[in-house]
Amino acid sequence: MGSVIPETLPTSSEKTFDTKKIEAIYKKEREKRIREDGPTQFLQAVGKYSHFKEDPWAVPFVRDPIEQETKVAIVGAGFGGLVAGVKLRDQGVNDFLILEKGGGYGGTWYWNRYPGISLPDITLEKMNFMDNS
Ligand SMILES: Cc1cc2nc3c(=O)[nH]c(=O)nc-3n(C[C@H](O)[C@H](O)[C@H](O)COP(=O)(O)OP(=O)(O)OC[C@H]3O[C@@H](n4cnc5c(N)ncnc54)[C@H](O)[C@@H]3O)c2cc1C
Repeated sequence: MGSVIPETLPTSSEKTFDTKKIEAIYKKEREKRIREDGPTQFLQAVGKYSHFKEDPWAVPFVRDPIEQETKVAIVGAGFGGLVAGVKLRDQGVNDFLILEKGGGYGGTWYWNRYPGISLPDITLEKMNFMDNS
């Protein structure tokens, strides 16, 4: 399990979006996707799919457990976890850890890669974390 060092996270700038409007958009999108079969619609990473649980980008290693006290533990260093870290920092909370089972951070974007495709670097600071389209 890797971890992101909170000191490396940027802080976000002033809030410039309409929260109510964004909430309404997300509610509408959520309603479109709700299904009767709930989580059972998803295949489990077992049997012939069990390799999806392995991290193909990291050399497996074993280390002793780390014991550390923290005010906030964020599970997962995907976009959600990283943004949670930024928001905590904005609130003056610096005592937190982001715990990640993969070998690096980025979540979906760590796990799924598209060889040969490149993008300009977009820092978290340049994103306002919301849909502007
Ligand atoms: C193929 C694909 C393409 C996409 N394309 C786009 C796009 O073009 N634009 C867009 O806006 N969105 C896109 N999305 C959606 C976007 O990637 C997700 O909305 C976003 O990644 C969700 O962020 P998250 O932090 O909630 O979850 P994730 O990114 O899934 O991160 C969760 C992290 O938590 C870790 N984790 C889970 N359980 C544990 C545990 N028990 N202990 C420790 N760590 C754990 C996982 O390893 C993972 O790294 C795409 C998604 C996929 C799958």
